[in-house]
Amino acid sequence: MTDWQELESRYFFSVYKRLPVTLVRGQGVRVWDDQGKEYLDFIAGIATVSLGHCHPVVVSALTEQASTLIHVSGLVYSVPQVRLAQLLVENSSLDRVFFANSGGEVVEGAIKLARKWGKEKRDGAYQIICAQGAFHGRTLATLTAGGNEKHKLPYLPLPEGFVHVPFDDAEAIRRATDAKTAAVMLEPVQGEAGVNVPHDDYLRQVRAWCDEAGILLILDEVQTGIGRLGALFGHQLYGVEPDVLTLAKGIGGGVPIGALLAKEHCAVFVPGDHGSTFGGNPLATHVAYSVLKYVIDNDIAGQVAAKGQHLEGRLRGLADRHSLVTEVRGRGLLWAIELDGELAETAQRACLEKGLLVNNVKPTALRLMPPLVVSQEELDQAVEIIDGVLGKLAGEKA
Ligand code: PLP
Repeated sequence: MTDWQELESRYFFSVYKRLPVTLVRGQGVRVWDDQGKEYLDFIAGIATVSLGHCHPVVVSALTEQASTLIHVSGLVYSVPQVRLAQLLVENSSLDRVFFANSGGEVVEGAIKLARKWGKEKRDGAYQIICAQGAFHGRTLATLTAGGNEKHKLPYLPLPEGFVHVPFDDAEAIRRATDAKTAAVMLEPVQGEAGVNVPHDDYLRQVRAWCDEAGILLILDEVQTGIGRLGALFGHQLYGVEPDVLTLAKGIGGGVPIGALLAKEHCAVFVPGDHGSTFGGNPLATHVAYSVLKYVIDNDIAGQVAAKGQHLEGRLRGLADRHSLVTEVRGRGLLWAIELDGELAETAQRACLEKGLLVNNVKPTALRLMPPLVVSQEELDQAVEIIDGVLGKLAGEKA
């Protein structure tokens, strides 16, 4: 344990199981710790540092706005906020936007929007059908919407109004729908549950059912949005449009911001219904505008699709060579390597030793989510490190 880590143990709530590394600097896909050791960063702030560390677009947007106007509150108009809202609407199938500071906050907003919509447009319906294993945040409502029992147990009693069904099972959603149902809320690909990719028709079937039943489809793209899966929004890959969409993580390029978007027909908030002191502040919205504009103008999502194919090929190669790998799954630049046993933490530590940061998303799986600007060489380098680590693990297991 270094001095900083020892110091932290005295002062900080111990809510995180941290890697034994203190990062002090980043550039592109690389970060450095306080001992000067370099790492390839395939965690990327949990899929937030979309343009890599200290990208010139992010740095200049931050510094420019920091010396112009940082914060004003929601009591007045603000130019960066309007520009970002317009850019989002013009490049999506949604009509209206609200800004908050994190993923959990915008999902909380989506839940409130669905409940208000249900009250007004569906005879008081308030229930939201969610997926087992889902992750939507850590507020009381969003962790209740999530599918991880461990996150819920310390906080009973939980808010009512959430029903859980298996992921990737449209028929289960149909069966769970009744007069109380206001919405279905899903991640297009479940990130925190271990990168669970549904079959190609799942979202189309769910969309068709939501239309038939007259309920809302909320897609939580906090992790999958802004190019991560190889399209600007993950749902575009599946040919559906949500009624409500949540974004955060990658849109800020590392700066905290969340966006809640809705189609006009369900944008039922009126003054006083919702709000956030910091939400939509000029600093975060100017950075997010600059990140999103860069992503759109440079077809970063298209590049992610191509890089994702390359990565997929390399990961399938790993699976062919190592019997320790039972499955690789993902899309774009969000992938999991499923291992034969609870080996993910050991593998993660071994990668760290070799200069690669990866996440042990489950006891049995590693997750890769590099910055969207990662190069093919950097992808290859990461795969080679994992290759070596798996070889060593197999040797130890034998
Ligand atoms: N929704 C999804 C799909 C997420 O992956 C996450 C975080 O991992 C959240 C919501 C919560 O976001 P935040 O941690 O910014 O509150």
